[in-house]
Parts: sequence; C-alpha cells; structure tokens
Amino acid sequence: MADLLTLTPPMPGAAQLQCETDTGIATIPLADEVSFGSWQRGIPEAYWSLDAEELTARIGAARKTLGTRAVILGHHYQREDIIEFADERGDSFALAQYAAERPEAEYIVFCGVHFMAEAADILCAPHQQVILPNLEAGCSMSDMASVPDVLQAWRELGEHFGTTDDIIPVTYMNSAAALKAFCGEHGGVVCTSSNAGKVLDWAFERGKRVFFFPDQHLGRNTGHAMGIGLDEMVLWDWRRPAGSLGGAKPEALDRSRIILWQGHCSVHQRFSVTQIEAARQRYPGAKIVVHPECRHDVVQAADANGSTAYIAKYVAEAPAGAIIGIGTEINLVSRLAKEHPDKTVFCLDPVVCPCSTMYRVHPAYLAWVLESLVRGEVVNRIEVPAETKRHARVALERMLALK
Ligand code: SF4
Repeated sequence: MADLLTLTPPMPGAAQLQCETDTGIATIPLADEVSFGSWQRGIPEAYWSLDAEELTARIGAARKTLGTRAVILGHHYQREDIIEFADERGDSFALAQYAAERPEAEYIVFCGVHFMAEAADILCAPHQQVILPNLEAGCSMSDMASVPDVLQAWRELGEHFGTTDDIIPVTYMNSAAALKAFCGEHGGVVCTSSNAGKVLDWAFERGKRVFFFPDQHLGRNTGHAMGIGLDEMVLWDWRRPAGSLGGAKPEALDRSRIILWQGHCSVHQRFSVTQIEAARQRYPGAKIVVHPECRHDVVQAADANGSTAYIAKYVAEAPAGAIIGIGTEINLVSRLAKEHPDKTVFCLDPVVCPCSTMYRVHPAYLAWVLESLVRGEVVNRIEVPAETKRHARVALERMLALK
C-alpha cells in the first residue's frame, strides 16, 4: 500500500478514524486480523496462521488442480491477493452474468459479499454450485433493508394511497434475494449503478411512483439526473415505528415521485465535499470522479460519477499526466493507481479504509474452500430457495431486457 499512501494527499483538518486496516491492506495471517473474532470462525485452525506467501502458493495449487471445474470471480473491491486468482473481475452483476455464461464450471467461487453470491445462484444453471469463501461477508447497505421492514412499508403505502398498483418497487442489486423476489412478484425490477436511469425510465412508464431501496443516494442521484426535483423525492426511515409512514409527511408522500429507503453504503457515505475541495486546492486541475452511492452534494461537486466500471474506464481514457481524485472503495482506487502509473490517481478519503465486509474474504478462506473442493467437499455453499429464485429471476430478467 506504500504507493497508494504516497499518492493519497493528506487532507487538511481531516479526522483520522480508527480502521481495522490502519496499517495498510496487505494480507496478514488470519489470526492477526483485529476483526477475525467476528468473521466466520468455522474455518479449520490449520489456516489461521498461514502468511500471504503460503496462502498464495496453496490457492494457486488448488486452483490448478480444479481447472475448468471451478471459476473464481473477484469483485473490484477485493484485495490484490484475491484478485490475482480471479478468472474475471467486475461489478456484482457483470460477475453473475459471467458465471451464468460458464456452464462448464461446476463451482462458482464468488469472492465478494453475500447478495452477490445469491445473484449468481439465481442466474446460474441448476448443476452449478455457488460458494462464498467467508459466510460473514455481508453488505451493511443490503442489511438496512430487511424483508419485514419492506413489507411493512409496502402495506403502509398501500393504506396511504389506497392502492400500490401505481407504485413500482425497484431494488438495487445490493439487496437480499428475497427483496429481488418481492420486486419480481409486485411488478418491479432490479437495477445496478450502471443502469439505474434506464430502469427508472422503465418504471415510470408503468407507474406513477417508484419505491426505491435500499440505497437512498443512488435513488436520489439517479432521479435528480433525470430531472426529478429533490422535493419530489421523500425519505422512508425504516427505523421509525410501524404506522408512522417512515417519518414521511403525508403531503410529501402525496407529491413524491420517488420514495427513497433510508439506506446507505458506509464506504461511499464517507466521501465529502470538503474532501473534494481539499483535493482541488492541492491539485488545481484535478478531475474528481465518484460513485453514485455517494451523497448528493458530493456527486454534484464532482466532475463525473458512475459505476465501478465507469470509474475504471474514466481513468483508462484520461490522458497521460491526468490527476484524478476518486470517491470509491480503496482496493479499486489502489489498483487503478498501479495500473496507470502515467497518471496520478488517489482516493479522496485520506483514511485507508476498505469495505469492511469485502475485506472479510481473506485469502485463508479462499484456500480453505478451494482445497475442500479438491477433496470433493463443498463448504460455504449459497443456495437461494427455489420459490425466491423464481420470482427474483423475473425482476432480474426485466432489467436484462432493457439492454
Ligand atoms: S462497498 Fe458498500 S455497498 Fe459495496 S459491499 Fe461494501 S458496504 Fe456494501
């Protein structure tokens, strides 16, 4: 991480928060990880003290033995020691699609978080088994929208408006399979950060309002880019007691076109306008590109915003010598900095703090699941129940049909 730390300008006045990777994001033995106590402890003790070199050798050997029987997918936010073994890297949806196009692979080892493995299981063929190396690798944003809370909100919306017939539920890819199924069953759809605008267009052709979850920022930023006023979007606070319309005023609901779930990504919500101003002060002429999961004011202050794939393309297409400050997860920023040494690429956030749940896919877990497969044992399989899968697939296919 030394390269990235050098490139990352210390922002004046920035608070230095404690993070489990304060000393960098290089792999250390599992047992030395400060958060290992809350990760999947079921991994055999033989893996706890292996260092990065030993783990790399063992993963490589198991990978070679498995050959085309296994495909390893690595989300952009995974650490380098995982990405080097990925047959494909990308965002959650691109990876699930890639898996579905590899019917020869019996095993899909998804190095990402829980909802991504679920999406792969929904889209892949029945003979394929999806494995998540660390079962504790969830997503805090996805966890902010639980099925009971969404159903309760849906009931209240139905009571308030007299019907939900003209409300289209739209769930971000970053949600549980059961919520994708809810959208499939209720005339709704799934979106990603790449196609959210197109999906909202589709939804407004079918209904008067959109009920968007779990990420308020993606919903707000997308709606605003489509010309929907901020006063036509209302926040639904799921922490409020049942019956209180999520804290929304009835008149605000009545004029709303988008009802936004009060969820957020803990990584992207850290980025601020102050960081952007500091970066521009330090590097006049710097371009700023951020993910649409960032707050609305941050997206407005940036030069550009888009999905991880968009950000990677933005950096690749920038001219040599360009200076680019990025608002997204540190592993991707670090990788882009290394891949484009002719450009100055840095993270807007001065604290080297990765997505803590992506970070849980430590190489020891990858070694464990692969070596288990070599022995013919499947561990950490993610299996979406058939009924949920059927409805979730409907919502995903509606999205796919938009391309
Ligand atoms: S970066 Fe944010 S949205 Fe993505 S997995 Fe981590 S917490 Fe979830």
